[in-house]
Amino acid sequence: MELPRYHRMRRALYHLEGSACAACGGRFFPPRSVCPSCRKGDLAPYRFSGRGTLYSYTRVGQAPRGFASLAPYDVGMVRLEEGPLVTAQLSDTEGVDLAIGMPVEMVTRTLRDAAEHGYIVYGYKFRPLLRP
Ligand SMILES: [Zn+2]
Repeated sequence: MELPRYHRMRRALYHLEGSACAACGGRFFPPRSVCPSCRKGDLAPYRFSGRGTLYSYTRVGQAPRGFASLAPYDVGMVRLEEGPLVTAQLSDTEGVDLAIGMPVEMVTRTLRDAAEHGYIVYGYKFRPLLRP
């Protein structure tokens, strides 16, 4: 992904900003311009709390290009407390026994290697919430 695209996505990457439908109350991440539930177009930006539970997870040992320096790392699907399911890297998992259903919270971390394009990409990851 190129720098202008990261710049356009910065609200989602830094603030976990999605969208909320004024007609049916649905909340979506990433943001949508048309509601996938009721097909209306009256959506406003919505900032998610960043809290949720681990829905599923796995460990990536053989990282794709751009992520080699991070390997091995954990990736998870997180069910946000507002409803949407988000796939993201997990952070601060060393020494933690990950378990489905454990509480997690969003943190801002380096998403990928800086060497590939010469800039550092920051964004959301989720870390275990050991003391809720
Ligand atoms: Zn709707």
